[in-house]
Order: sequence, then C-alpha cells, then structure tokens
Amino acid sequence: MTRIAVGGFLHETNTFAPTKATYESFVHGGGWPAMTHGADVLKVMRGINVGLAGFNEEAEARGWELVPTIACGASPSAHVTKDAFERIVTEMVEGIKAALPVDAVYLDLHGAMVTEHLDDGEAEVARRVRQVIGPDVPFVISLDLHGNISPELVEDTDALIAYRTYPHVDMADTGRAAARHMTLLLSGQKFAKAFRQLPFLIPISWQCTNDQPTKGIYEMLAALEDDQVPTLSFCPGFPAADFPHCCPSVFAYGVTQADANAAADTVVRLVSGHENDFDGKIYTPDEGVLHAMELAKTASRPIVIADTQDNPGAGGDSDTTGMLAALVRCKATRASIGVIYDPVSAKAAHDAGEGASVTLSLGGKSGIPGDAPYQATFVVEKLSDGQFVAGGPYYGGRDMDMGPSACLRIDGVRVVISSHKAQLADQAMYRFVGIEPTTEAILVNKSSVHFRADFEPIAERLLICAAPGAMPADTSTLPWTRLRPGIRLKPNGVPFTPTTASPTLAPVNG
Ligand SMILES: [Zn+2]
Repeated sequence: MTRIAVGGFLHETNTFAPTKATYESFVHGGGWPAMTHGADVLKVMRGINVGLAGFNEEAEARGWELVPTIACGASPSAHVTKDAFERIVTEMVEGIKAALPVDAVYLDLHGAMVTEHLDDGEAEVARRVRQVIGPDVPFVISLDLHGNISPELVEDTDALIAYRTYPHVDMADTGRAAARHMTLLLSGQKFAKAFRQLPFLIPISWQCTNDQPTKGIYEMLAALEDDQVPTLSFCPGFPAADFPHCCPSVFAYGVTQADANAAADTVVRLVSGHENDFDGKIYTPDEGVLHAMELAKTASRPIVIADTQDNPGAGGDSDTTGMLAALVRCKATRASIGVIYDPVSAKAAHDAGEGASVTLSLGGKSGIPGDAPYQATFVVEKLSDGQFVAGGPYYGGRDMDMGPSACLRIDGVRVVISSHKAQLADQAMYRFVGIEPTTEAILVNKSSVHFRADFEPIAERLLICAAPGAMPADTSTLPWTRLRPGIRLKPNGVPFTPTTASPTLAPVNG
C-alpha cells in the first residue's frame, strides 16, 4: 500500500502588521480549523475547503494510506514567533521521521510565512523535510495564491501547486490537484522545473479572480496545462512581506525543460502585458459611505463595502474604527459593520446583557496610525457565544469560534463584535448575532476579496474603502527596506532602491 506522510502549517505574514502569531494563535486557528495532531488530523480534514482535506479525500479514493503529523493555521498577522515555528515544525518533521519509510510526502502550506528568525518559513520547512526523507522521495506542497515563492522552496520540492481563485474557493481542489500530480510522481515520472519572478507588486484588491485581468490570466493558465506540462501555477503574491522574494511568481513542471520554460514564459508575458490593468477605484471612508447611501436609495439589495486595509486575512487586527466612525458621522441607516475584534468590549456587552446600554471604548487597540478606539454608548441588541457554521463558499462549512460576541447598535448602525479574529467572508458572520445581511442597506466587511464569494450574490454593488489599517491598498506606501532591487512597488510604480533602513523600520529578523 502506498504510504504518504502529510501535514499542514499555514500562515500569511504581513511584516508591517501590529501583532505576531504565537503558538496559541495556531492552537486556536482563527479562521482555520483548530490545531490537530496525529490521527485527529484526518478526522478534521474532510469535507471542508482546505488543501489537506481535498488531498485526504483523493487519497482515500486512490487507496493510499496517509500518515498524518500535525495540521494548523493561524490568522494572517505579523511574524510567526520562533517558538511557534520551531514547536510546530519539530512535531511535523519528527512525525515524518517516525513514519519512515514513506512513499511520498504532501504538505499543505501557505507560501508567505515569515518568522521572527527566518525570511522564508516554507523554504525552511521544505529543507528540513528533504533532509529527513532524502533526495528521491516525491515531495509535493500545495500553496496559497498569495505565496511569495523563493527558488530554495522550488529546489527542495518535486512540485508546488497554488490555488487559482481569490476568493479562495478552490483550496480543497488544490489539494486534489496535488494528489493528481503525486500520482504521476509515484508512477516514476520526473519533471523539469521552471521558476520565474515578476518585476512588480500587485495590490491584493486587484488580484480578485472574479475580475479581469486576473480572471483571464487563470483561464489561460488552465488552458496551458496538458500532458507535457501537467502542473502550472501563478502566485500574484502577498505584497506586505518585507524580504527579497516578496513578488508575484510562476512555476511550471514539464516533461522537458523546454516545455516547462515555454509554459512559464507564456504566463509571465501574459501577466506583464496586463500591468496597466491591475487598477481600480478606492474610496475614502466618508466618500464611500456617502456614495453607498446614495446608491442604497434605489437599490433592492445591499451595497457592500470592503474595509480593505483592516482585513484580518492580510494581517489587520480587524479592530480599526475608521469605517464605523464614517457610518455614524454620515448618518447611515440599516447599515452593519463586522467584525470588530475586541474581547474587552465583548465581555462588557455580555456583562451588561441584551437590551442594556454600554459605554465603550470600542476597537482601535492595534496602534495603527490615524486610528483610535471609538468612544460611544451602544445598545446591546444580541449576544452570542460565537459558535456557528460558516456555510458559504469561502469557509465551506467550517465550524467557527468567534468567542463571546455581540451585536451592538448606535443610531442606525449595527456593529458585530467578537473575542476572536476571523475575516468577514460569510453571511453567517452577521446572522450569528441576529443581523440579516440580505435586508441591510449597507454592509461594511473587514475583508479585501474573500467576502466576495458569499456576498457578490446578494450585493447590489461592491465598493472598496481605505480607512487606516495594516494592509495598504496602495502597496507603494509601505516602508519597504528589503525587497529585490528594481522591483516596482505597484503596477507601473517606482522601482525599489535599497537605502540605509531607519532602525525603527528594520524588520525584527533584519
Ligand atoms: Zn490567500
């Protein structure tokens, strides 16, 4: 029987963000399933939209025996602590070592992990795994579309396969694709690799695969795959990690080197040819709210605003108050905003009880320049323990644990507050505190793109607003110090030139 060691360790690191990911962050999981060990991994990893779940289902169908090690993820944030990385990777590598001999290894990683002590977390995971399994055991990793991929990671693996959708509705499908490629490797086929890095950063708002140009790029990429090039990926990257391999990349696996090169170069030309098209309108908070209120007068469905710069799926703390202040200031009605992460205010709401009024210093705790707690008196409309199922296409049926949570109301504005962070990417994240999103006039979601999977079907219009937050909509405004010299800081932006970094801006691992 074919035996394959498997594991998962997912983190997207915004090196400019306010809060690090600790071991506890991975134990809880945030928007990911809670950490599981050994046999429990395969019980949790099925029927949900996660790479390892897709691989697991495909393995069962093929009669492979999987040897699970550890599976965990944490909400995007600043660096993964050295303690968390070492404990998790040690358990994973020791698990693989104990399982030897194995026929192959599959890992579900993200691709944009930076730790306190390492620029490229995934490359280090792959290096240690390769050291244990030797050069000949097939080793495949599935990755997020936001991976910032290094040549070292390509070198130490037989194949990397990235998601093709943003919102990531194909995470499990990518695990299935990894299993298909694994089948080729297990049959003894060898593939040449081609790896390319692109010369400009792409802001995440313009990476959405529901829109052009990204939609067309992925359609073309899928059409380029065939028996000669069975696996081809494009990562637009995560443009908030300050290290030299932060950039979009393309990786191809072909029967011959010429096949792999040709496919990779075709995708590079395609993406480069669209540099002008990664662009769109970003509103200021007041401008966005006033425009939404105007549109709502004649709309039959909600106007949905992305509070993109505080997206906890990109390292934001999901607690900035710029959009809440704009909604109240502009006197919006039938408007809801979620989710503001604030355990202290959630406790105060629970202590006060439903129907009570509470005066809070809400959110604004992450120290983002231009942001502050919102001081006001709110009515506690509804309390929740934060346990529910997110059944929309992004979370795909995951059990959510937002901790003690509440719906607060101030004037015509409702606020969802929670004790754990997770990106507002599912209608259930309003309903669990009694808000029916489909009948609201305006919804403000702390998300950049993932919310679109579940909200586009109910939205009249989508708008993007830039209130102060950890993930600038304009990537050229970040205080970069360590990018690859010459890379453009946004499409058609100025090229990066290394200067002597100010000590206050130096990354902790610099
Ligand atoms: Zn992603």
